[in-house]
Amino acid sequence: MTSSGRALVSGGSIAGLSAAYWLARTGWDVTVLERSPAFRTGGQNVDVRGAAREVLDRMGLTDDVRAANTTETGTVIVDEHGATVVRLPDDDSGEGATAELEVLRGDLAEVIRNALPDSVRFRFGDAIVAVDEDGSDGRPVTVRTRSGATVQAELLVVAEGVRSDTRDLLFTVERRRLGITMEFGTIPRIPSDDDTWRWYNAVGGRQVHLRPDAHGTTRAMLAYTNDDGVVPDRRDRYAGAGWQTERVLDGFEHSEDVYVDDLTQIVAPTWHRGSVVLLGDAAWCVTPMGGGGSSLALTGGYVLAASLAAQDADRAFAAYEEWMRPLVDRIQTMPPGIKRFAYPQTRAGLAAQRVAHHVLTSRPVAPLMARLTHTADADQPLPALDVTR
Ligand SMILES: Cc1cc2nc3c(=O)[nH]c(=O)nc-3n(C[C@H](O)[C@H](O)[C@H](O)COP(=O)(O)OP(=O)(O)OC[C@H]3O[C@@H](n4cnc5c(N)ncnc54)[C@H](O)[C@@H]3O)c2cc1C
Repeated sequence: MTSSGRALVSGGSIAGLSAAYWLARTGWDVTVLERSPAFRTGGQNVDVRGAAREVLDRMGLTDDVRAANTTETGTVIVDEHGATVVRLPDDDSGEGATAELEVLRGDLAEVIRNALPDSVRFRFGDAIVAVDEDGSDGRPVTVRTRSGATVQAELLVVAEGVRSDTRDLLFTVERRRLGITMEFGTIPRIPSDDDTWRWYNAVGGRQVHLRPDAHGTTRAMLAYTNDDGVVPDRRDRYAGAGWQTERVLDGFEHSEDVYVDDLTQIVAPTWHRGSVVLLGDAAWCVTPMGGGGSSLALTGGYVLAASLAAQDADRAFAAYEEWMRPLVDRIQTMPPGIKRFAYPQTRAGLAAQRVAHHVLTSRPVAPLMARLTHTADADQPLPALDVTR
């Protein structure tokens, strides 16, 4: 197998776009296949941290992402009256729970799409139904799509997100449900909404979050423990939760972009097979509880293309895995007891959490706590990559 030629990237979100960008810039002829009928612009807050900051810099897109910033200035835990319990700390580099490059997923996707080389083609509203890897037609991979088309390529990048069908056709992965559901949506902004991420914990393992955006609306999230994985009626689940819960519940009834995620880590023993490689959430979903999924997706696209530019594909895939695995493993390893701490079920648990927040954000411990959010930092430099286009 060669390290250039035709590349088919399945999935047109952060991972797929990053791969398309870097593969095209290193000489690949790239087509992005996206199941949705049009480019997806939805989604709530994601952040660009650690190695992904450098990838964005190398794309020349840091200023564009900064211009699309959500305007959030910090994170506060609030009580049922909206009063601040504690403000989460920044670390020495100014990064805390709110990152410096805090952006909506759709805005980040648009910025990357607008920077793609003209040679990148999109094919919307279609999806892979079969993959043939026998190479009998001269190309290592031949895929058949739902619309009946046949596409041949030297490389297939599967970047279809956590519930990837193509991955499930070709790979066996472990799914680790975390027993937490998150519901994200956009609601009307009201005058008392400010520029902070306000985070409210209620008994019964329920959280309510409100965050500013740069579009004149407010981004809300409900996050709750959910051991059986069946998404409950949200009004029942949040009955009596207090603070601004009713407003969020009303808002979600009219919001057009509610995104519900039963948090599930994906653990795959390998990310490649023949000429097929997994990327982003399809390969290693870390979930919003681990954090940094978009940063990993952005970084992974770069590392994959850089690895392919330096050696034959078999070695490149191994090098890509070797570079990315430690980062992913670190984020997927949750501190013991974190779920019980973050989602207290009882009044006593909630009171203990408040005390702990005060201790954890006190002067001596604060930089350490803030560093926990630096999940996408790598211990090694990014591999070198010479762009050819
Ligand atoms: C519309 C949308 C909204 C999101 N909102 C949030 C949010 O509010 N908060 C949060 O933390 N994370 C959100 N995410 C997830 C977040 O983008 C990812 O966790 C992270 O950025 C890693 O991205 P990814 O490209 O690996 O996967 P994803 O962002 O999940 O992208 C996968 C892409 O592949 C496409 N796809 C899926 N199956 C197929 C198929 N069979 N063939 C072709 N294409 C396929 C999907 O339509 C999607 O565009 C959202 C994702 C999407 C697509």
